[in-house]
This record gives sequence, C-alpha cells and structure tokens, in this order.
Amino acid sequence: MTTIAEPQAENAAPGPYGALMEITRRPPIAFTHGRGGSLWDSEGNRYLDFIQGWAVNCLGHAPPAVARALAEQSARLLNCSPAYYNEPMMRYADALTAAAGLERVFFANSGAEANEGAIKLARKWGALHRGGAWEIVTTAGGFHGRTLATMSASGKAAWDGLFEPRVAGFPKVPLNDIGAVEAAITDRTVAVMLEPIQGESGVRPADDGYLRALRALADRRGILLILDEIQTGMGRTGALFCFEHAGVRPDIMTLGKGIGAGTPLAALLAREEVCCFDPGDQGGTYNGNALMAAVGHAVLEELTAEGFLERVCEAGAVLRRDLERLSGKYGLGGVRGRGLLLALDLKPRTDGFALVEKALAAGLLLNAPAPDALRFVPALNVTDAEIAEMLDLLDGLLKRP
Ligand SMILES: *Cc1c(COP(=O)(O)O)cnc(C)c1O
Repeated sequence: MTTIAEPQAENAAPGPYGALMEITRRPPIAFTHGRGGSLWDSEGNRYLDFIQGWAVNCLGHAPPAVARALAEQSARLLNCSPAYYNEPMMRYADALTAAAGLERVFFANSGAEANEGAIKLARKWGALHRGGAWEIVTTAGGFHGRTLATMSASGKAAWDGLFEPRVAGFPKVPLNDIGAVEAAITDRTVAVMLEPIQGESGVRPADDGYLRALRALADRRGILLILDEIQTGMGRTGALFCFEHAGVRPDIMTLGKGIGAGTPLAALLAREEVCCFDPGDQGGTYNGNALMAAVGHAVLEELTAEGFLERVCEAGAVLRRDLERLSGKYGLGGVRGRGLLLALDLKPRTDGFALVEKALAAGLLLNAPAPDALRFVPALNVTDAEIAEMLDLLDGLLKRP
C-alpha cells in the first residue's frame, strides 16, 4: 500500500532485492513466521505487530481456525471453476449475506476487484434504471484500490497525473459535507461511494449523521449508496460492519482485508433490486473457489462467535484510553477512529515516518499514514498485555526528541 511505501521511502535502508519489482521500499529484514500478535525475522528477532498486514490479519498470525479450514478444504476440493456451484461457496454465500443483511454476493480475490465489480454493477444499474447515468461521486482522501478505475475513484492527491488518462466519471467531494454531495449530483449521477472511515488517508471517520443524511439523499434522488467496507468491515470497528453504528443500509457494499484473515478473499454484496448483472457481465477465474470460501466461512464463524465483537470493543476502548493518555502526556492532537481502527494525531509533531522507523528498530511494527499520524490496526484478538507492551514501547519513542 502506498501509505507505508511512501512514508518509509525516505528513511528505508538501501539494498533492493533485484529479482523483485521495486513497488515499495522495504526494510532489510525478511519475516519467517508469526503467531498471534508476534512476527519473527530470519535472524530470530521478534516484532510486536500492530499493522497485521494492513488490517488484514484480523485473527493474528497463523490462526488455527484458518489453518484448519485450509488443510481440510485443500484435501477435498480447491477449485472447480466459477462455472459450477461448489458446497463451500453456497454455504458461505448464505452465511455472509445473512450477516450483512444484503441479499446477494459475488466473491472476488482483492478489494480493488470487488470495488471494480461495485462500479460495474452501479453503471449497469444506471444504464437500466436511471437513463444511462454512470457517474459515481467519491470523496477527497478516499481510497478504493489500485486498478485503473479504482485509482480514479480514489481521492489521493499523490496519484494526480499518474497513469493518464484516468477513468472518467468520479467527481470528488470533501468528506462530511452533505451539501457538497447534493451539489455534485446531476442527471448523470448513479451513486455515491465512500468508506465509512477513510483508512489509508489517516483514519478519518464519516460522521454517523452524515452517513444517515447520505442514505436519505440517495433515496430522495434515486441513486445508490455504495460503502467500501474493505478496511472497516469484518469486526474492525467493533460491529461486524461499520454501517451498523450509523444504522444505515447500503445498496452495495464491498469487503476485503479482514474477510480472509490474511488469505486473498474479497466480496461484493448488494441488495436484490440492484443485482442486474447478466451472465457474462462479471466473472473471474478464482471467484467463489472452494478453498477461499471455506476459509472465509471459518473466519466469519470466528468473528461472530459469542463474545468476539464485545472483546473487540473492549480492546478498542483500552487502546483508545491509553493512546489518549499518551496524547495528553506529550501534548499531541488526540485519537480518532473506532474499535481497533485508530489513529493517534501527532500534531504538532510531524515525525511520524521517523517514529515508524525507530519503532521497527525497537521491535514494533507501526504505520504512519501521514507525517502527523500513527495508525493502529492490531489483530482483533489482541491481548491487553500486547496493548500494554505497545504503549510502553511507543512511550519510549515519543520521549526521545
Ligand atoms: C485496502 C483497501 C482497498 C484495496 O484492497 P486490495 O485488496 O488491496 O485491492 C480498497 N478500499 C479500501 C477502503 C481499502 O482499505
């Protein structure tokens, strides 16, 4: 992801590994294994992981439930092509749609691919039901992936001018400004698309009231509400889906990251009335493959087990309280986010990238989405002892000038 690549680029040690395309500057270590909140490198050093593959490993490293599902399913059936039904795909589709309160699902391999599907579905719906409307209003600072269309949908200033020409039809509005959305809607508009909390741009929440106003506006103007819950979904904010906090129901939702707990899985969900793909419109070699469906189902069962999400809320409250204490101690800008998707606003400090570098040297994996913020996305089953260990390390790093 860019947000780590760009920050670390300035300080990372040289020595790119020549056989790999250098898509990011990596520090000169190689990880060999992990367990829960810990990772070990080839020299035997341990690191406390508060990045977890960028909010991906929701159950931590090497979770037994995933290992079991992979072993059992891989010995039965990996893939029989999306041209056929398979049992795990059908079982998981029922479970995930029931949990989300959306009637239909298409399984994909990455978040960007799920978002591409969402954009296609909305455009087709617009062609059929809204006089050919095809524009999708998206937000400044939003992040939706790295394919051509999803880069164009993203509101990342650093990408301006890259891979031109952009895919057309993604007018941008500032986040949390309902008037700006209202003004941006025209006859060409088919949908509004956003993250309930902008993750990559630094953990910037859409207000609950704003999300409710968007839902009402979409209904009034006859357009779709698309929520990109790739980072916020699957328990990350303490509810299975972040939209639950605001009590809105999206027309289309995308999931990724935590949905596979570290394995490549994503999903596009939609209300029945919106599902207008005809055979041939959408597909992909690996969609709904039995292996990933079995893993996804096992992950969903873990996340919805009795007490799991309550514990996420509890851990999130502990982490927030302790970060707020640090913020007060060092005169920083406070904490934002929800559940276990939190950022410490470093302002007036702007040494976030240097702090990440020092944290790595101290055995702590942290992310700075911007020079003035640190992002915390531990495993959802992070322990209080791990939170205390992280806070101790961070306190030591902030102490030094
Ligand atoms: C990570 C992310 C994506 C892209 O997912 P990939 O699996 O990397 O393609 C899209 N939207 C949001 C909100 C994300 O956090």
